Amino acid sequence: MINIENFLAEKNIDYEYDVSAEKLSTYKGGGIVKLVISPNDHNINESLAIVRDFPHYFLGNGSNTLIDDYGFDGVVVCTKNLNTIVRDNNEFTVGAGTLIPYLNAYLERLNLSGLERLSGIPASLGGACVMNAGAYGIEICEFIKEITCYDLATQRELTIGAKDIAFSYRSSGDSFKNAFIKSVKLTGFTQGYDASLSRALREKRRNSQPNKPSLGSVFKSTTLPAGYLIDKCGLKGTRAKCAQISPTHANFIVNNGGGSASDYLTLLAIARDTVKRRFGITLTPEIKILTNRKEIWEFTTQ
Ligand SMILES: Cc1cc2nc3c(=O)[nH]c(=O)nc-3n(C[C@H](O)[C@H](O)[C@H](O)COP(=O)(O)OP(=O)(O)OC[C@H]3O[C@@H](n4cnc5c(N)ncnc54)[C@H](O)[C@@H]3O)c2cc1C
Repeated sequence: MINIENFLAEKNIDYEYDVSAEKLSTYKGGGIVKLVISPNDHNINESLAIVRDFPHYFLGNGSNTLIDDYGFDGVVVCTKNLNTIVRDNNEFTVGAGTLIPYLNAYLERLNLSGLERLSGIPASLGGACVMNAGAYGIEICEFIKEITCYDLATQRELTIGAKDIAFSYRSSGDSFKNAFIKSVKLTGFTQGYDASLSRALREKRRNSQPNKPSLGSVFKSTTLPAGYLIDKCGLKGTRAKCAQISPTHANFIVNNGGGSASDYLTLLAIARDTVKRRFGITLTPEIKILTNRKEIWEFTTQ
């Protein structure tokens, strides 16, 4: 098998060994990732061709990713160096690692409206597409014309039109199950950026969401918002060591300092099981878990 270290040095690919979850996940707790590589536009395809031989995970801004306390003994491909934006009239080809708040600010400078409602989501564009991130009545899929990705199975680059992607509420189905999003062609922006709307919604977010490290919503909403159901169970403020169901928003689990992934998962289980007992509703986690341990996957999909 290829010596990965020689390969990374030869291809000039940024890499780091033994990286703490504090640097990779916005929850700022969890274990160590064995190897994180951050390719750029020039060496991304070669990186992915190598990575497919190892356990791997694709990471955007880590704002929806919990890293197991036992860490991940594989390769994380981080998109932070894939952040070019190319404009062609009203279409923009945007690197997967570009952060949504940055993209929103970029469009604001061009006086183009569209992303104001999404401007407070701390996501990379690639992560936002996989999760079909949304807020205040809109979803990122509404602005996607096509996505260029690298399919690990066939080792080929392909471009998929938005209508061929299985977008639904906080999901892109299996469209990127084994494919890495490189860039996204966005369209549909209109003249006249609405700065006051963007400001008002960011303020609303500040007032209704905790300002401690978290992964955003733990569970997807059902017919009723998950936060409402958890709140009705009286669970706001419940603690598991250093993690807590936020007293501000019951669908957020926050890290009060030193919180581990197992603290997080303890609270996730308490919320899920209590809501099931009280309302008979099964909550589905929205968050993703990076782990080597099969039982952890099973735990969240029970
Ligand atoms: C404070 C806070 C507020 C939030 N508010 C919202 C909100 O209003 N609306 C909302 O929808 N979400 C919200 N979130 C959740 C989160 O920001 C979204 O789920 C976001 O889409 C995740 O993006 P990311 O880049 O951080 O993804 P990551 O956590 O890095 O990854 C998420 C998933 O995408 C995959 N992935 C990432 N990049 C790629 C790629 N290039 N190719 C293939 N797969 C990839 C990962 O493997 C993983 O499965 C919030 C989170 C926080 C912390």
